[in-house]
Amino acid sequence: MHREITRRDFLNGVGVGVGAALLPIAAFAESASAQDVAGYYPPALTGMRGSHPGSFDVAHALRDGAEFEGEDSGERYDLVVVGGGISGLSAAHFFREAAGPKARVLVLENHDDFGGHAKRNEFTIDGRTVIGYGGTMLIEAPGGYPPVAKKLMRDLGIDMSRFYDAFDRGLYSSLGLTDAVFFNEETFGRDHLAVGDRGDPDIVDGTPLSSEGRADLARLIRNDRHYLNGMTREEQIDYLGNTSYETYLRDKGGFGDEAIMAISATPRGVWAIGVDAFPARAAWSSGYPGFGDLDLGIYSYAGESNEPNIFHFPDGNATVARLLVRHLVPGSAPGNTMDDIVTARFDYGALDDAASPVRIRLNSTVVRVRHEQDKLSNPVEVTYVRDGKASRVTAKRVVMACYHAIIPRLCPEMPARQRELLSASLRAPLVYTNVLIRNWDSFAKLGFHRVDCPGSYFHRVMLDYPVSIGDYRFSKGPEEPIVLHLNRIPGQPGPSAREQFVSGQRELLATPFETFEWNVRDQLGRLLGDGGFDPAEDIAAITVNRWPHGYAYGYDPETDRVAFEPSQWPKEKRHWEQGSKRFGNISIAATDAASNAMTEAAIEEAYRAVGELAATP
Ligand SMILES: Cc1cc2nc3c(=O)[nH]c(=O)nc-3n(C[C@H](O)[C@H](O)[C@H](O)COP(=O)(O)OP(=O)(O)OC[C@H]3O[C@@H](n4cnc5c(N)ncnc54)[C@H](O)[C@@H]3O)c2cc1C
Repeated sequence: MHREITRRDFLNGVGVGVGAALLPIAAFAESASAQDVAGYYPPALTGMRGSHPGSFDVAHALRDGAEFEGEDSGERYDLVVVGGGISGLSAAHFFREAAGPKARVLVLENHDDFGGHAKRNEFTIDGRTVIGYGGTMLIEAPGGYPPVAKKLMRDLGIDMSRFYDAFDRGLYSSLGLTDAVFFNEETFGRDHLAVGDRGDPDIVDGTPLSSEGRADLARLIRNDRHYLNGMTREEQIDYLGNTSYETYLRDKGGFGDEAIMAISATPRGVWAIGVDAFPARAAWSSGYPGFGDLDLGIYSYAGESNEPNIFHFPDGNATVARLLVRHLVPGSAPGNTMDDIVTARFDYGALDDAASPVRIRLNSTVVRVRHEQDKLSNPVEVTYVRDGKASRVTAKRVVMACYHAIIPRLCPEMPARQRELLSASLRAPLVYTNVLIRNWDSFAKLGFHRVDCPGSYFHRVMLDYPVSIGDYRFSKGPEEPIVLHLNRIPGQPGPSAREQFVSGQRELLATPFETFEWNVRDQLGRLLGDGGFDPAEDIAAITVNRWPHGYAYGYDPETDRVAFEPSQWPKEKRHWEQGSKRFGNISIAATDAASNAMTEAAIEEAYRAVGELAATP
């Protein structure tokens, strides 16, 4: 643990011999408009990524009362899009479909890369490129995508059926690798790696839990009954809707601390929230243990069909963003298929070309969006800060595809009620850390490929999904390098989900890269040490993707409730729908508008927002 790993390895990635491929991070920081500098290639940066240093300073200054006077740049656009995530890029796409290919569009994005949460991480080792996802992981249940999102996927050339060829489903099982649970000393008294199916009660054997705790956990895993006998169905629905999963397990199921702690990693990883603030009804709906065959006679996620349930590119949905960008700015990357995009190297210098009808300007934080003379039929002035300098452009229309909570600061002229509703949207913080390791012999020796780590710094550690597309070849065997994916949901247990999100955001911004690095080494060393893993030797690079403003959730300040199941909320409480109404020539997209942090919602809301603008006089 205490042996040095050079900073070079962490900050510049392994094999800096990639030469011109990498600019040192400092070069970007000094020149935020460096996207035109030869060699600018943010996916290859390691260290602190996601909301990287420098990306949020202007927005936070704005929050703290800073004012910016922009100089008119003379640029005029048909559409300006605030935010270059999947929603913003989709809005640009839909607008061009409606307005024609000559329409002039500018996308302004505060990060040094496009895609928002859909972030690509690249590593180079021994002359070979290894790709990982830094955020939006997969296209989930594409069969259930709304028609507009399905059509966009088709138009971008994504054929979902290809996943079955691309995904080597048998790779890990052919090596005898299964799941595992890691019980750490700090939480459970001693480190113990339980290898086996997490759904098998036998996994409790040998764990450091007390005999009572083991019996409890085995009962929970068996999941053969619920604990709401004696209640009518209406009472059950009401009780579960007003109770946390933890309280249900404790009060009704009689489960103790140890069993509850042992399963705590599950909702954290999926919903970014602890069991103490996750509604029991959403836990039932998600198929979590403790409910047996309880039938509430209402919609449940667990009851959804399992038809083609995911599509995963090596960089996750960053490929969707990359396909959109190649479509919008054809000179930005070679190729024209879903195969060649996977290894295509983007020319960032082409993204903000004055000759192109669509321009994507990075490192640019929008600080003001205002109709000329405050007249709602007038064009809109958009002020942004890049490289410490505020500039102004003018657009006939604007789509806000950014976090909704910032919109009231950008558009203080909006009606007070709308600003209030927009401010009520919440974001859950998450961290996806990618660790490049030189080989995965230790996993093969220990017999697992994915491990839940309740109580540990990282809640889950897994070998990347074995997906090979186009010229990209996944790690074929344990002797080859691979990316490990580690996830962490920051934040302390607290009385409400909102408080957990807020404390997690604060924690994230105060946590330096070194803390993540130390924990990566400590946790992997303890998990994999018996398999021969040596953190100092085997870790080749670390990329921490921190997302203080991660999953979008609607929130009701009156009841202090977070909308984990938005479709189940009464119409008058769907603040996200009311808040995202068009305001003059400004419309509002992004996942906050749906209280649904999924790619299809980002696309659908973009489509709606562009459609609303078409309806403006
Ligand atoms: C870690 C993580 C994993 C996820 N995994 C999945 C998954 O597997 N599948 C799935 O469907 N969804 C997933 N999601 C949800 C994801 O949020 C959506 O799928 C989608 O990528 C959101 O797109 P968006 O454009 O609405 O928002 P974002 O991706 O957040 O993009 C908005 C962009 O606007 C920028 N912005 C904000 N304010 C300003 C400003 N003032 N000026 C300029 N730019 C600004 C932001 O920095 C951001 O880059 C995940 C999210 C996270 C955080």
